[in-house]
Parts: sequence; structure tokens; C-alpha cells
Amino acid sequence: MAVETKTTCPYCGTGCGVIARREADGRVSVKGDPDHPANFGRLCSKGSALGETVDLDDRLLHPEIGGRRASWDDALDLVADRFRTAIAEHGPDAVAFYVSGQCLTEDYYVANKLMKGFIGSANIDTNSRLCMSSSVAGHRRAFGADTVPGTYEDLELADLVVLTGSNLAWCHPVLFQRLAAAKAARPEMKVVVIDPRRTMTAEIADLHLSIRADGDVALFLGLLRHLAAHDALDRTYIAAHTRGFHAALAEALALDDAELQALTGLTASETDAFFRLFADTEKVVTCYSQGVNQSSAGTDKVNAILNCHLATGRIGRPGMGPFSLTGQPNAMGGREVGGLANMLAAHMALENPEDRDRVQRFWKAPVIADHAGLKAVDLFRAAADGKIKALWIMATNPVVSLPEADLVRQALRTCPFTVVSDMSGSTDTAREADVLLPALGWGEKDGTVTNSERRISRQRAFLPAPGEAQADWWQIAEVARRLGYGEAFPYQSPAEIFAEHAALSAFENEGARDFDIGAWSRRGGDDYQAMTPFQWPQRQDGSTQARFFADGRFYHADGKARFVAVSPSVVERRTADFPLILNSGRIRDHWHTMTRTGKSARLSSHIAEPFCEIHPRDAAALGIEDAALVAVESPLGRVILRALVTPRQAEGALFAPMHWNDGFAAEARIGALIPGLTDPHSGQPASKNVAVRARPFKAS
Ligand code: SF4
Repeated sequence: MAVETKTTCPYCGTGCGVIARREADGRVSVKGDPDHPANFGRLCSKGSALGETVDLDDRLLHPEIGGRRASWDDALDLVADRFRTAIAEHGPDAVAFYVSGQCLTEDYYVANKLMKGFIGSANIDTNSRLCMSSSVAGHRRAFGADTVPGTYEDLELADLVVLTGSNLAWCHPVLFQRLAAAKAARPEMKVVVIDPRRTMTAEIADLHLSIRADGDVALFLGLLRHLAAHDALDRTYIAAHTRGFHAALAEALALDDAELQALTGLTASETDAFFRLFADTEKVVTCYSQGVNQSSAGTDKVNAILNCHLATGRIGRPGMGPFSLTGQPNAMGGREVGGLANMLAAHMALENPEDRDRVQRFWKAPVIADHAGLKAVDLFRAAADGKIKALWIMATNPVVSLPEADLVRQALRTCPFTVVSDMSGSTDTAREADVLLPALGWGEKDGTVTNSERRISRQRAFLPAPGEAQADWWQIAEVARRLGYGEAFPYQSPAEIFAEHAALSAFENEGARDFDIGAWSRRGGDDYQAMTPFQWPQRQDGSTQARFFADGRFYHADGKARFVAVSPSVVERRTADFPLILNSGRIRDHWHTMTRTGKSARLSSHIAEPFCEIHPRDAAALGIEDAALVAVESPLGRVILRALVTPRQAEGALFAPMHWNDGFAAEARIGALIPGLTDPHSGQPASKNVAVRARPFKAS
């Protein structure tokens, strides 16, 4: 008999509800969950193909040591022994975990607890570093905490939606469907798309600004200047609820028109059209994603946007606010448990001694990390330098997805002991591991994820565990037990972990932090099984809050938000040898390094090969013909891609997707071209402004 299970899509940060139907013969089909508040029954192409990606081809079914099958006991004993030895001989900062936005919150919680509270290092970072860490840093600077003020409904209620650095149509397709439907229903709603490329998102835009790479800070400084010059500030809100306005405005006033145009690459009429729309519209939502975050000035870009919303008081009210869109299904859940090298659990601050003490007491931990750990790029550089002696990678493929991808591969070869937990043992990363641990995948694992609007949903198992695969949280807890910490890691189910996570969120909180799901600390496994999607907070006293900050209460000690005085410099990366800018990103039908979406012939038929978009004039100048092969080179490496000549691409720039890897096509890892340049505040890599050159490729 067929069985239906309510769960959540494992791809983008929209976090759509899915009803998975398992037939008696084992076939799986999916449909959108009409009751889920993220999607109300909609699914995109990736979500609707989930049933085509759950076969066992290429699955890792049992632990391996040195390429040979091993028992769980032998593998876990070895992992614990090598971590214990590395810590004893070189100290806790000589080991590291690198986890993933694919991990469920329960996995993240246990990994973070072991590393920060028991090993005593903060060397746990995540591929979400590549996704939204600049937004985290920007939120903390402006709000005093990492809190997303609004909800998806705000996009539908707004009269102006600004999408900057976000190809919503392909990267958050169901949210785009909601926006497009709202715009169709209310033609007076305006959409502005700010993106160097004319993406599919721009098709619904009333105004598309083909901005120069990294021109965003200048653009939003120009907007702040315009708001001040046209009496469009909310001076009452600024005076009552913020600090630092005059310093921020001074930066804006220092920018003259010529600089604004040079730094943004936009004409005065283009910027004026945007500025007038923003100034004249009360209900404005500004969404931003990787085009903002993945930059050496990512945090400043975020604060330049937040400054404009604070200056107009347009924050946390229906249809108003800045909105960071997370890329991954559980990037937000990772933030909640402190699964980043510079964060503590439950949105507490690693640099705050009181927070560290609180978490240590709650965990009854022998130690607590007292300084930030290595962020993703630095973590693998340290491994390449021989400073990391034992490394555990979970649910991610950094040999493809990180910048300096060849250095990452070298780091894994240099590191004396590397563990990889994954569904597949044949990813580019898994092939470098000393120990492989088979992990449960979507449909097999149980836990929670949090989407971009702070909505916590259940991922539920509806398939049996294949082979000997185990949940990530179980693997970590078993190693913790072998390290002598079994008492603190007694978990028998994800429900127990979630209840502890919820209890920590409320521990000595009393309104000090918005992240509070204390109501769940006293609920049992049956409630966890029956959980319906909810937005945090959900406090012990039963109170909730849909939006934040409309009341002017922020999380800095004085309760006020901070303007951040950001400077508008744009670094020119191009050189005479590398005269083009490479912008990397996603396509509609693939997810990350294609380990799952690559299994679906339907998804692969959308775009079958790695490609790069190039403007017709650049193509003509370089002798590159449409559909011909092109070699794209940076100082770090080379890839071979199919040329797609299109005026949608800005002149002087290329776009290439980041999905393909050595398993699908030779010389296709875009990460091998990208240098490890990062934002100084967030550590997020600058993956969208890379100097390259291109030429026709002829096989020799
Ligand atoms: Fe999944 Fe995102 Fe598509 Fe929703 S929009 S079905 S979460 S990939």
C-alpha cells in the first residue's frame, strides 16, 4: 500500500513542503504540500524531480578505511583515536569539522557541541560560509544579533520589491512564483532587479540595473544620499531607534555623481529611476542573496542596504524590510545552533564571555572555545599548510565547491587524517578520504531545517536506511562517546536533540535574544513527529512574533540599531592578462555539485553541459562562436566550457555555473579558477568577481 509522508525539500533556502508518496513497489513520487506556508503546494523543477534522485546508485553503503570495507566499530574507533591523538599532541585547534547546509539542525547541534564544548576549539565551519555569512555579519553589526526581520508574505505585500544579487527565478523558484503571482494580481507593484546579467528574474522587472561587479555599496550610498536630499528619511525613527546615522550619511554625501556612475556602471537616469521608486514607495522589500554576500565587500554591501531601510524606518512591518535569502535548505538552522566558526549556539556570541559561560554551564562542558575558529577558506589553507592534523567533512564536496579547489584537494592529501561522511563514496572529496562513513540522505533522515523566513520544518524519513548508513548526529555522538563524553551525548533520537536545542535557546534568555524556541523543550517525541512548520520565536510562555524591529527594539546593549559607515570603493580585479570578470552561480535545474540532481535525466536535459555566457561583442573580439568550446583561465587554473553567446550577459564579463565537477566533465570545476579572496568581516569568498581570460578551445 502506498504511504504518504510530509517532509521538506532538501535544496534551496525557500524550504518548500513536500508530500512524498512511496508506492508498495518502492517507487517514490512527490507533490507540493498545500498546507506548507512556504510554498502552498507549489514545487519547482528540482523539487518535483526529487523522486528521481533517491535510487541507490553510487551510494556508500558501509564504512571504509583506506578504501576497504570496515565495521562501524572499527571506523569510529579509528576516528576517535586519531582525533584524540591529534588533540593531545597538537592541541584542540589542530582538528576541524567542515559541515554543510545539508546537515539537519540536530546534526549541526551535536557537531557544534562536540567541537566547541568538549574538544574546546571553534574549528567547525560550514559550506554555508559561502552562502550567507556576510548577511550574518551585517545583521550583527546593524541589529546586534543575526535576525531576519521579515517573512515571505512581505514580498507579496510590498509595493516595491528590490532584488539585488539574487536570481530568484532560478535560485529560489517557488518564492519567485509567489512574487510573480502577486505582481500579476497587483499590477501597481513594481520590481527592480539589480544584477550584471539580464537573468530570468529580470523578465518581470520594471527596471533592470546591469550593475558593475561589486558596485552595490556605491549604489545604496547613492540611494541614502538621494533619500536625504529629497526629504524621504524617517527622522523620528532614526532619532529614537538608531545610532551612527550622520557618519553613514557623510560617506554617502562624499560620493559625487561621477563616482556613483563610475562605481556602479549605471547612468544617472538609471540610478535616479531606482532612487525615485524607493523614495516614493512606503512598502519596500529589498531581497539580497549571493550577488551581495559572495564578495570581498559583502558585509559592507549588506549594511549599505540595511542603512537605507533603517533610514526610512521601513523594517519589520508588513511589506517592508531588508530580506536576506539563504541559499541552502538549512543555512538558517546552522546559524541557530552556532554551526559557524565565529558563532556560539542559540544565536549567542562566541566573543561574549557571559554567553560562553552560559553555554558551557548548560552543556556541563569541560571547556568552551574562547576564540573564533578557522573559516572555510582559511581552514583548508591551514590544512594545506599541515596545521590541521585531523579533519571531518560532512555532507559537502569542497574539492568542487570551494574557491582554490585544487588547493583544497591538496589540503586533503596533506592532512594526516581525513574523514568524510556522505551519501556517496565517489565525490571528488570522498575520493581523498582516509575513512568514509555512510550517511543517510534525504528521505532517509529525520530532523528539522529552517528556511530563509525563520520557519522550522521537519524533514521526515520515508525510506529505509540503505546498507549500514547512519545519521550524521549518530556518527558524531558515537565518536563523542569514544572520546569519553558519552554522558553529554546520550541521544537516541533527533527529537531528544531538538528538545535540548530548544531548552538552550530559552536558557537564561528572558527576552535577551529573539531566537527562542523554548516551547519545544518540554514537548516529547510524539509532538516532534507531528510538528507542523512554525516560525521562531516560539517561547515557553507561548508568545510568538512574525516580524522584528518595527517597535524599534534592537539587540545592541542600548536597544538601538547601528548605521554602519561603509565606503564605496570597488576593487578592479581585471588585469591586462586577465581582462574579463567571471561571475559564478546556479542554474535552474541543478543543485550544487550535482551529486543528486545529476541523477535525473529530466533535470539534466534543461542544460546538459557546463557552459559560459559571453556577450556577442566579447565573443566576436575573441573569435568565440556560439556553441563552440571555450577555455576560461584564471591565474589558478583552467576550465573548458561550451560558449553561450548572449546579450543577456554584460560586456566584459562571463557567467559560468558552479555545478559541474570531474565526475561529469573534465576540467569543469569553476572553483579551481576562483582565488581564496574573502570578505574581511564574514570570511565569505568573493566568487562573483574573478579576473579571467577566455579563448577558443581546440583539443590537441
Ligand atoms: Fe525545493 Fe527550493 Fe524548488 Fe522549493 S523552490 S521546491 S525548496 S528547490
